[in-house]
Amino acid sequence: MPDVHVKNVSFTYAGSSHAVLRSVNLTIPEGEFVLLAGPSGCGKSTLALALAGLIPSRIAGSFKGRISLGDKPISTMEVHEAAQHIGIVFQSPEEQLVHLDVESEVAFGPENLALSHDEIESRVRTALAYTHMEPLRKLEIFALSGGQKQRVAIAATLAMQSRVLVLDEPTSDLDPVGTQEVLNVLRTLNKRYGWTIILIEHKIDEVIPWVDRVLLMDQGKVVVDAPPHQAFAAMELWERPGVAIPQM
Ligand code: ADP
Ligand code: MG
Repeated sequence: MPDVHVKNVSFTYAGSSHAVLRSVNLTIPEGEFVLLAGPSGCGKSTLALALAGLIPSRIAGSFKGRISLGDKPISTMEVHEAAQHIGIVFQSPEEQLVHLDVESEVAFGPENLALSHDEIESRVRTALAYTHMEPLRKLEIFALSGGQKQRVAIAATLAMQSRVLVLDEPTSDLDPVGTQEVLNVLRTLNKRYGWTIILIEHKIDEVIPWVDRVLLMDQGKVVVDAPPHQAFAAMELWERPGVAIPQM
């Protein structure tokens, strides 16, 4: 599983005059659990889309720089190719669940990769087991809770075997039970199975115990890149208006 490299990435949405990402530089080693935080509008979702290879391929604008997995540039890959390297899960599962039932949803990605029936079934079984959704595999999506739907969205990315997962506020539409279900799955994926997790999340207290590193963004730049305890000190300053955020 390769490291994620972001080199001098800048992006301006088509029709806009200001850059939303401004010279972002990062390296995320394999197996790291990264929390990406920062005020609303600072560019977190845009960075998530860029990491998943959807910018610039699917979203118009001016993109500069390079995002690669190992030495493979993701920004030049087709979307289905990128999905085999890095998966993305959005805030609302409805945005990405398009099939009627759980197993069709999870099988959909691998089915487009021309794999054998046995290989597809094995991937679906593993993805459902990792997300604790196997007992519900025959259910229709509408019958699921929010947390279960979000676990199906995660399972669908796992079935692509990307090993790097970006999640953009995956628990914001969920109640406390659903939130815990999803966060527990992410912790297991990272700690037991070694997936790289890049998580945009506001419920910081609940994830901080197992995060390796915190990235804080402000106005399109990563202004803090530090282990949790150091980043927390910076975030307390952040809460006080007029206090400059220290650069680390
Ligand atoms: P965050 O996820 O941190 O709230 P976003 O990446 O969604 O931030 O947005 C960063 C900035 O880019 C905001 O000013 C937002 O209004 C703008 N933006 C987001 N999506 C688009 C778009 N499709 N077209 C133009 N501007 C956009
Ligand atoms: Mg966002």
